[in-house]
Amino acid sequence: MRFSKKTNAIGPSPTLAIDAKAKSLKAGGVDIISFGVGEPDFDTPQNIKEAAIKAIRDGFTKYTPVAGIEDLKSAIIDKLKKENGLDYEKNEIIVSCGAKHSLYNVAEALYDVGDEILLPSPYWVSYPDQIMLNSAVPVIIKTDEKNSFKITPELLKAHLSKKTKALILNSPSNPTGLAYDKKSLEAIAELAVKHDFYIVSDEIYEKLVYDGFEHISIASFGDEIKKRTIVINGLSKSFAMTGWRIGFAAGPKDIIEAMTNIQSQSTSNPASISQKAAVEAYRGPQDFIHTMNIEFDKRRLYMFERLNKMKGVSCIRPVGAFYAFPDVSYYFDKNFKGSRINSSMDLTSYLLEEAKVAVVPGSAFGDDRYIRLSYATSMTNIEKGLDRIEDALSKLQ
Ligand code: PMP
Ligand code: GLU
Repeated sequence: MRFSKKTNAIGPSPTLAIDAKAKSLKAGGVDIISFGVGEPDFDTPQNIKEAAIKAIRDGFTKYTPVAGIEDLKSAIIDKLKKENGLDYEKNEIIVSCGAKHSLYNVAEALYDVGDEILLPSPYWVSYPDQIMLNSAVPVIIKTDEKNSFKITPELLKAHLSKKTKALILNSPSNPTGLAYDKKSLEAIAELAVKHDFYIVSDEIYEKLVYDGFEHISIASFGDEIKKRTIVINGLSKSFAMTGWRIGFAAGPKDIIEAMTNIQSQSTSNPASISQKAAVEAYRGPQDFIHTMNIEFDKRRLYMFERLNKMKGVSCIRPVGAFYAFPDVSYYFDKNFKGSRINSSMDLTSYLLEEAKVAVVPGSAFGDDRYIRLSYATSMTNIEKGLDRIEDALSKLQ
């Protein structure tokens, strides 16, 4: 079989692959603790589930408009206005099958052969592959842990070229937990306007912020930056709705129209039932998010402290999302029973075999010195899993 060239350029999502492996080991009776996939361990709130059940009972089970039902678009518009200070019309919104699908639609609509897409690293696993699937070129901007993995205007300028089409910005970030403050975002926005490139602003973790951090959307700094920004968001993380597959994009009408055409020829509308559930998520009580955040915050601080106390491990204090991203390169070149750890992938395999703990290698995010641990799992699992990691690391010579 001869596949298309672009399929040869990509692989499976490493986060989903590790999750599948951890789940299959668990199903086979192995006592695995998973810090692998980034998925809230909370159940979807009851009021949201009830809205979906009602949708089924009411027979709301047919095709809907491709870009989403009117009620949901209105709820999203109100959310963007109230929480992000952004004004959008209905033809500037498209609802898709998860934020990943929204991002993919942007890639299809915007990235062309040879276009350069700026991608700060460490990056979330799907960005480079989505760029390559559309024959564009990911231009990786390596960031420094000393600057909390943030891009600076100087770094950004150094990577600009005539082919620069867009910058993918993910704040709060997966995998590092960094989040950009107003001043840093303003500097990035200024460059985007001056050099006329788009910003794909992935704000999926906007609600999961700690230490009093306030999320700001880069699109909110005025018309010039707003018309160059596509805001991506969704329900997976904020409302513990990963399986429902609802995400959205908000942006200039012509881009949204192109994305809608693409969606109409690929998936059609996202599930009608999930859309009704999403309306309830945005319109109904919001206290669930606060309750979930209090719990994530405790786990974050515990994990951050424990990791930094481990010999040879260092980790910046994340202010958003639910990941810790420690530097573990101290353990490279060390051995266990004659086999050598040479990379984050080797360490990940070792931790899975020896400690029965699943983590994601930093190489999947563009930096091999690190591993990613998700703290979207119970405190008991976190305590036990970190004990196991510490013990396994101490056996490396
Ligand atoms: N962006 C980032 C940064 C993510 O971590 C995720 C999580 N998978 C997504 C987008 C996609 O989310 P969704 O489940 O809504 O597709
Ligand atoms: N965003 C999550 C993660 O990074 C979900 C997995 C995925 O969609 O790849 O673990």
